[in-house]
Amino acid sequence: MLNSMNGLNKDNKPKKIVIVGGGTAGWMAANLLACKWKETEVCLVESKEIGIIGVGEGSTPHLKLFFDTIGVTDSQWMPRCNATYKNGITFDKWSTIKGFESYFHPFAAQTDDIFTVPLFFKNIHARMQGYNVDAHPDSYFLETYLSQNNLGPLPNETFPFGVAYGYHFDSALLGQFLAENAQGLGVKRAYGTVDEVLLDNDGNISAIKLNDGSQLEADFFIDSSGFNALLIQKTLKVNYQSFQENLVNNAAVVMPSEIAKTLPVETKATALTNGWAWQIPLRDRFGNGYVYSDDYIDAEQAEIELRTHLGLLESDVEARHLKMKVGRVEKHWHKNCLAVGLSQGFIEPLEATAIALSFNTIAQFMRCFEEGKGSNKFQEAFNNDINKRFDGIRDYIVCHYKTNQRNDTKYWRDNAANQNTSEALNRILYLWKNSQDFSADMHKYNLMGSYQPKSWACMLAGYGVFPSINLDQTVDYSTHQHEVDGLRDFIRRCGLNFNKHQDLLKMNS
Ligand SMILES: Cc1cc2nc3c(=O)[nH]c(=O)nc-3n(C[C@H](O)[C@H](O)[C@H](O)COP(=O)(O)OP(=O)(O)OC[C@H]3O[C@@H](n4cnc5c(N)ncnc54)[C@H](O)[C@@H]3O)c2cc1C
Repeated sequence: MLNSMNGLNKDNKPKKIVIVGGGTAGWMAANLLACKWKETEVCLVESKEIGIIGVGEGSTPHLKLFFDTIGVTDSQWMPRCNATYKNGITFDKWSTIKGFESYFHPFAAQTDDIFTVPLFFKNIHARMQGYNVDAHPDSYFLETYLSQNNLGPLPNETFPFGVAYGYHFDSALLGQFLAENAQGLGVKRAYGTVDEVLLDNDGNISAIKLNDGSQLEADFFIDSSGFNALLIQKTLKVNYQSFQENLVNNAAVVMPSEIAKTLPVETKATALTNGWAWQIPLRDRFGNGYVYSDDYIDAEQAEIELRTHLGLLESDVEARHLKMKVGRVEKHWHKNCLAVGLSQGFIEPLEATAIALSFNTIAQFMRCFEEGKGSNKFQEAFNNDINKRFDGIRDYIVCHYKTNQRNDTKYWRDNAANQNTSEALNRILYLWKNSQDFSADMHKYNLMGSYQPKSWACMLAGYGVFPSINLDQTVDYSTHQHEVDGLRDFIRRCGLNFNKHQDLLKMNS
């Protein structure tokens, strides 16, 4: 259909697009399309019976990029969604090495690359050689300092450096906000459960049939039907590549708890016996969840462990149990269908990357059309690129499980022993231990997937993955320490330009 340029308007975009699914992914796609493709008619259909998954409350800076793209400011959406700011993620109790029990993975700030990261890498290298220098990431990043001091990521106007940040939000409220905004931009909303998908002779989707007997035709379809993957997998039979061999977690239990008086500016990911627990601060509650593998612990035990972890063992607060399917489709854009969201794949939420992947997918798809690459022959390059993003994130998450230092249960020992690691990850781990310049070599060997060398270094140094040699006590490393102290003072002074998180939220209410 689109191959022969039928179904395109005078702008060379599809005349009509139907989105199946009204979760975060579907409404993000609807907003972007309605905002940028004014000549395209966009209709979203969602099922009240099925509902949304209703989890996913942390983001990367991509959510900011999304809101910037559709022209919505923090103060317009954050109060409506009980949203808070996020400087990054604390990984707690993943390592048992003294001094490395916890580390912070910050988002990127301009001050990192200019001032602080070079010393971080220098000291990592010295530590690899056996010098007893400070190579813990928490000493080197502005947003780590902000988080430790409950400062929000928006500097005063006079501070000349950019700081990337993410958010925490109530996913149901975010969905409602996005739905309202998209309808304001002209998106038509329909309710109904799709129970049949019609194909034309070329195998393209021609229409969807709803359970009330009505039918919706379109030139292009977006599958945002969640784990249901109604169009891309069930109808178009695109292959699914499971990541279960690489990442064993397949379930989660979720429950809220009372919010702290001082609102954190970070997600906390605490290692438990058979997985990890997130703690996400919203304005009115903490969102919590335990991500685990049911091969190692059953749902009931997982709930008890989460309740114990949260001090809610005696509480009657309700828990929700979820199953997760971890992997991705081989083609995200196939025929006249694009999969966005859980329908295209999911990697467990340790780094909260799902929304980022949805945004990248839809934004890049739109760019293809805008650059005249909207026909089928460009699909392969597009799919390869999105697959690379998924696989890069998968590798980074796998690395958490390979290199953390816990070995107290079979779960952690099996994860550490898991040999299902990609060639790219094996190379990164090799470089970490053997390279003279980890950052330069990652560039040189084209290993720049979804994460920068500094993020890999945060994780590996943060878990204390250094050679187990006696640190050289005879070498005078006082100059190293002097440099680190100077850097810490620089970061502290930068921090004077930032406001307390709670004050920042009041400002944008
Ligand atoms: C435990 C867990 C934690 C997570 N944490 C994070 C996180 O911190 N950060 C992050 O970015 N992401 C996270 N995610 C992922 C996040 O939940 C999703 O990316 C996000 O909610 C988008 O989901 P979706 O829109 O693809 O699917 P859904 O929200 O499930 O929406 C699917 C939509 O399709 C509709 N639908 C399905 N079938 C039909 C049909 N036959 N007819 C009509 N409509 C249909 C449904 O009614 C619904 O409207 C997490 C996921 C899990 C499981």
